[in-house]
Amino acid sequence: MGGYCDRVRVRLAPSPTGPPHVGNAYIGLFDYAFARREGGDFILRIEDTDRERSTRESEEAILEAFRWVGLEWDEGPDVGGPYGPYRQSERFDIYRQYARQLLEAGAAYHCFCTPERLADVRKRRQAQGLPSGYDRLCRQLSEEEVQRKLDAGVRHTVRLKVPLDGETRFEDLVRGAVIIRNSEIDDQVLLKSDGFPTYHLACVVDDHLMEISHVIRAEEWISSTPKHVLLYEAFGWEPPVFIHMPLLRNKDRSKISKRKNPTSLLWYREQGFLPEAMRNFLAMKGWSLGEDREVFGLGDMVENFTWDRVKTSGPVFDLKKLEWLNGEYLRAMTAEELLQRVLQEPYTRRAGERVEKLLAVTRLIRERIKRLCEFDELTNFFFEREPYEAADLIPKKHDADFVRRALREACELLEDSEDWSAEFLEGTLRGLAERQGWKRGALYMALRVAVTCRRVSTPLFETMEVLGKHECLERLQTALHKAAALD
Ligand code: GLU
Repeated sequence: MGGYCDRVRVRLAPSPTGPPHVGNAYIGLFDYAFARREGGDFILRIEDTDRERSTRESEEAILEAFRWVGLEWDEGPDVGGPYGPYRQSERFDIYRQYARQLLEAGAAYHCFCTPERLADVRKRRQAQGLPSGYDRLCRQLSEEEVQRKLDAGVRHTVRLKVPLDGETRFEDLVRGAVIIRNSEIDDQVLLKSDGFPTYHLACVVDDHLMEISHVIRAEEWISSTPKHVLLYEAFGWEPPVFIHMPLLRNKDRSKISKRKNPTSLLWYREQGFLPEAMRNFLAMKGWSLGEDREVFGLGDMVENFTWDRVKTSGPVFDLKKLEWLNGEYLRAMTAEELLQRVLQEPYTRRAGERVEKLLAVTRLIRERIKRLCEFDELTNFFFEREPYEAADLIPKKHDADFVRRALREACELLEDSEDWSAEFLEGTLRGLAERQGWKRGALYMALRVAVTCRRVSTPLFETMEVLGKHECLERLQTALHKAAALD
């Protein structure tokens, strides 16, 4: 473990340059679980060093989405803390000061190369089959030359003086030793020509000053870590422990991307995936509670958290699986709980309806709903009569005559009934089919379309009970009118 091992401190460091990303929440769950397990601290840090692409709206959306998915941080831009500020754009003076320190120690240098020259170098090196990095021209400048250019106000960056030979290594807690030859590492820019830090400088300085003990991030950052290790060495600081989590992947095993999977947490929220299903899903992509337990809560993860349960094989982000998991959580709820969730966001425009009716309807769709946003679509016909084609009333292998007779007989039979319970309706209508020698399925299909306006719906008799006698008889009459026009 690193030098700060007396207290576990981890950080999630999103860049607010777009919608909140599922990959960030996934990493955040590991930060959270590990910090809670160890009684440590979980820090949220906003890495907005990219001034052009970072926005406050994105930051706010990210915080809100992380909270929605169940992450709770102890320190961050919104809650404060003793290591603030937690937004990198408010720390620029700090990074400049540390860049100066490296320059003074001879561990970094000024680079005056123009973007045009750098592009040229890149092209030339590529053509020669060399790695596409910088050719280190300015590393050879004499002190006087450097001073003269600085005095003349020539635009410049600050670069890390990467050792020309030897190797850099670090131990990844879940992957073991990672070793890279220094000759393969570019002289990384630390301060850009506008004076702003790059990710690498800001990240290392902050992880050190914020006393981060474990850096948990996605494996796409592995190639940056040797640069960070060199920076720690240049500063004379103890590096943290590094953990690179397997990336979430599309089905074709490429890195999860918008084109192949929705990647914004907002989309999942809008669709009505439950936050508990979402976090269960993300957690199980990189970690397992035990062979046969797929459904588990964040509490279970915290309680049982160890790094050796991290799966290092590339987990595939499988929407079907998430949908299944969401269904598991939805079906475990009572109708009351389910309705409460539907009303919370809200996922329905029916919030003004009578609660008893909403509840009765919810009971009927409980088994079928996969995402909360389906509520209105699944239940619309309970609240309004939908248009349908008269021909829909005709069951397979039957004709218009059958529909007219079936609906008329059903109406007559039900008109005077006091009882309108599902059991009564079922018994009565089954009796009708038997007496007439009709196929039960055919009668029910005609009735289903008449009453629900759809060929696929919630269970017929329960649905009729919820709709009530008056509404059902009116719909049957409407259907009879429609059927009168059929040949
Ligand atoms: N800002 C980086 C990101 O957006 C953080 C990488 C890291 O955790 O060091 O993922």
